[in-house]
Amino acid sequence: KAKGPGAAKSSGFDVFLPGAKKGQVVTRFPPEPSGYLHLGHTKAAILNSYFAKEYEGRLIVRFDDTNPSKEKTEFQDAIIEDLALLGIKPDSTSHTSDYFDHIYKLAIQLIKQGDAYADDTLQEEMRAQRMDGIASARRNESIEDNLARFADMSAGSEEGRKWCLRAKMSVDDPNKALRDPVIYRCNAEVSHHRTGTTWKVYPTYDFACPVVDALEGITHALRTNEYRDRNPQYAWMLEKLKLRNVEIWDFGRLNFVYTLLSKRKLQWFVDRGIVTGWDDPRFPTVRGVRRRGMTIENMHNFILATGPSQNVINMEWDSIWAGNKRIIDPIVPRFTALETKDLVKCTISGISEVSEKVLPRHKKNAELGTKTTVFGPNCFIEQVDAASFKDNEEITLMDWGNVYVRSKKLAEDGSVASLEMEAHLDGDFKKTEKKVTWLADAPVGATPRSGRLTEVLLLDYDYLITKKKLEEDDEFEKFVTPVTQFETLAIADSNVSELAEGQSIQFERKGYFILDKAQGKDGKREFIRIPDGREATAQ
Ligand code: ATP
Ligand code: MG
Ligand code: MG
Repeated sequence: KAKGPGAAKSSGFDVFLPGAKKGQVVTRFPPEPSGYLHLGHTKAAILNSYFAKEYEGRLIVRFDDTNPSKEKTEFQDAIIEDLALLGIKPDSTSHTSDYFDHIYKLAIQLIKQGDAYADDTLQEEMRAQRMDGIASARRNESIEDNLARFADMSAGSEEGRKWCLRAKMSVDDPNKALRDPVIYRCNAEVSHHRTGTTWKVYPTYDFACPVVDALEGITHALRTNEYRDRNPQYAWMLEKLKLRNVEIWDFGRLNFVYTLLSKRKLQWFVDRGIVTGWDDPRFPTVRGVRRRGMTIENMHNFILATGPSQNVINMEWDSIWAGNKRIIDPIVPRFTALETKDLVKCTISGISEVSEKVLPRHKKNAELGTKTTVFGPNCFIEQVDAASFKDNEEITLMDWGNVYVRSKKLAEDGSVASLEMEAHLDGDFKKTEKKVTWLADAPVGATPRSGRLTEVLLLDYDYLITKKKLEEDDEFEKFVTPVTQFETLAIADSNVSELAEGQSIQFERKGYFILDKAQGKDGKREFIRIPDGREATAQ
């Protein structure tokens, strides 16, 4: 691809569309309403939207609804919502089904020109013939016969259901995509989510896409380069039907390791209850990754940074999450949580009473407001920290001050049961080696704002599949990870009860989390871990 002016430097994106003129570009994003948007679709949507904007042109979102067996209004509504969430505002929205009349007439035109024929060769056999470059027995029937067969198909009659319509391109072209592709199929059993039972025949994507692109005045059709073999087929349709030319610009498909990006396969997980729905935090859907704490800004950055690549990229999750971490780190408030199973009780001599102080929610970002931190003679810290302390070591309790570790009581298993400390709050925190998180165990209502410590649930997830890169002939059903959700009970400072669902935060020294449910399991607040790109295994 040639490089040109008008590049958006900030995104590192410097590719231009061939023949594009400012003010005249029309692009389209054509999702099939057969599932929710995933990150792969996001790439196509963002690129189309980017070019439309860059060239001061127009973006059409067109629902490619030619297979009523898979499509639903529910999916269409979700796609519209998710595009809005991504900040993608189409200049208009359409449906391939809006053009069914027109497409149908063009199919008849092809038959009349001798460029299409009806075929009732059984599916298996047709596949074999196409592989071997053998002509169908129906290839040279008369135009009248073909019209009659297509009429049977259109009526959805018992006979018609056995037939399909094929473009008469080539029997044995080295490019197999050109071997008389199917352009219309009979589907008389189901009702279309928009046109109901009006139609018994539906155009295939291969036929409908070039036709509607031309009819809608699309100047540049962006598609993934796995369709490259089908580009000459696309051009053939336009030429035979004397429709205006459309420039195809292709780009590499986006894939992620350990991840399925296919609505059909994702639907399989939903149907079996392996995930809780299309917005499951383990899903690579826009909703799934959002629930996991991915920002929209990061999705845009990521797509535009990797966008124009022609390689099918198999991305590591770490790279997309690392970018997200850079965005959220300076803008999410910080709190404290300690794992419940690891709590060690400490008593601090020299502290006589419970008190509280208003502190910034983020030391380097005053805009994030304040929180109330409670101090007192009885505290909790975590086992790993407690176990590391040497006798009489001076350590720092974060946001508070130094203490000496005076005595350690061990449990039978050798773990630390409790600690006695002595306050030395003015001690120099720069001189201590250990700065630990802690929580004061204050009685309810001990201070005006303090409640009790809040019990929360921390959730983390693993990949849904066990294989890094699934091959074409791998059965994905055989690579399902048995356990993919992990729960950790923790106590957190009571400030977290002020958070709203969807708010991202940092638990100091633990990482980033997003409040998923204010009232989760047993009424507890549920936080989902936001990957930060540093873990090697978890997403
Ligand atoms: P799926 O298999 O998930 O259903 P699809 O390609 O059949 O994918 P469509 O709804 O037809 O789904 O796709 C809408 C647009 O998104 C198309 O332009 C398609 O090329 C693009 N797209 C789909 N998956 C990816 C991907 N992984 N990377 C980049 N673009 C993608
Ligand atoms: Mg598709
Ligand atoms: Mg697909």
